Amino acid sequence: MRESKPKKCMMPSCDKETFDKKAFFCREHTRVFESFMSTAKKVAVPVAASAALFVAKVIGGKKK
Ligand SMILES: [Zn+2]
Repeated sequence: MRESKPKKCMMPSCDKETFDKKAFFCREHTRVFESFMSTAKKVAVPVAASAALFVAKVIGGKKK
């Protein structure tokens, strides 16, 4: 089983494709995610967990 179709950005509100097969987000969100990761790096969280955390944080931040 191989993925032939491009992955979509993990961000629920985003419909763009990821620029990399290993990437979780589109180019735009990857940049935001990377700056988020630079702070999360201290805790040494796996990238997948950080991605989920990042999405959760963004969703949570929207409720204002
Ligand atoms: Zn995106």
